[in-house]
Amino acid sequence: MDAQLNHAPCGYFSITAEGLLLRSANETLLNMLGYQSLELADRHIESILSLANRLFFHTYFYPYIQLYGHVKEMYLALRTKDGRDLPVLMNGVRLERGGELFIDCVALEMNKRIEHEKDILRTKTQLEALYQATQEANVRLELLHAEYEAKQQELLRLNAQLEALASTDPLTGLRNRRFFKESLATLQEAYAQNEQPFSLLILDIDHFKKINDTYGHPVGDLVLSSLAALLRSEAGPADIAARYGGEEFVVLMPGADRTGVIDAAERYRAGVEAASWEGLRITISVGAATISPGDTDETLVNRADHALYASKSGGRNRVTHAEAEAER
Ligand code: GH3
Ligand code: MG
Ligand code: MG
Repeated sequence: MDAQLNHAPCGYFSITAEGLLLRSANETLLNMLGYQSLELADRHIESILSLANRLFFHTYFYPYIQLYGHVKEMYLALRTKDGRDLPVLMNGVRLERGGELFIDCVALEMNKRIEHEKDILRTKTQLEALYQATQEANVRLELLHAEYEAKQQELLRLNAQLEALASTDPLTGLRNRRFFKESLATLQEAYAQNEQPFSLLILDIDHFKKINDTYGHPVGDLVLSSLAALLRSEAGPADIAARYGGEEFVVLMPGADRTGVIDAAERYRAGVEAASWEGLRITISVGAATISPGDTDETLVNRADHALYASKSGGRNRVTHAEAEAER
């Protein structure tokens, strides 16, 4: 036999039409199966097939090659001399030599490839499990995210509610003193930076103590909340009306100058005087001040307060602007 074929990197053998192995099985095949040279000669092919593959050989390999003249890439298990199964990939071809038919075959060991395929299959199974777990984790994450979003919204809503509560006077529903102070500081800063003018009103109910004393505290409360409603309806959209404390109210008027704030104050005063009050006579005295250079939020409040005092001492139910008071 040709030396190259004898040591080719695949097993080679030839069988007769009856299935008998020829002497020409190469060294590589003999090594694969653990036989010495010529040991296989004249044996039937069945002697190197695993039990399971003998049937396969007769029902498939043999009829197929008879019909088509060749067999390609057929997986088989050969049987080694010591009885092990050896998986191989086999190609066969039917040839005529000297008027006789032979089947020439090559067999490639498949051990490594099968292990490799098992590895691939294992990895694929692991990847599928991992993918499944990731999908499940994603779904859980999405649920958690939605839950978190809802909680966040709820928290924002509660915060806004709390914020509103913290800046609202419970009796009148107007902004409270805290909110007023913060708004005043903001307006004062804006004025210091770009001289945006604003004015302040302090409104105080005249002889309110008498209302309480005559009709009782609950009626006094009713007067306070009715006055608050009146202030709310009269105030401009940018104005901030708040309860300063007791029967004193304030209105911050962004953009209002001396004339503007006096007009507004007069409107409030006249409005209160003209309202029905269920037979009671209610009036207010008002002090107004307009921010000027050198004012702090405190000096502005003080100036409005002095103007209010002037309205009180001047006979009540009237409006005084701090500058008019200073000019006297
Ligand atoms: P003036 O014209 O000088 O302002 O007299 P006044 O009686 O309005 O002023 P005074 O400061 O003497 O009295 C204010 C009263 O306001 C005393 C207090 O009992 C009453 N008051 C303060 N807060 C409330 C309240 O929330 N509800 C009621 N009903 N009365 C209040
Ligand atoms: Mg008062
Ligand atoms: Mg009063």
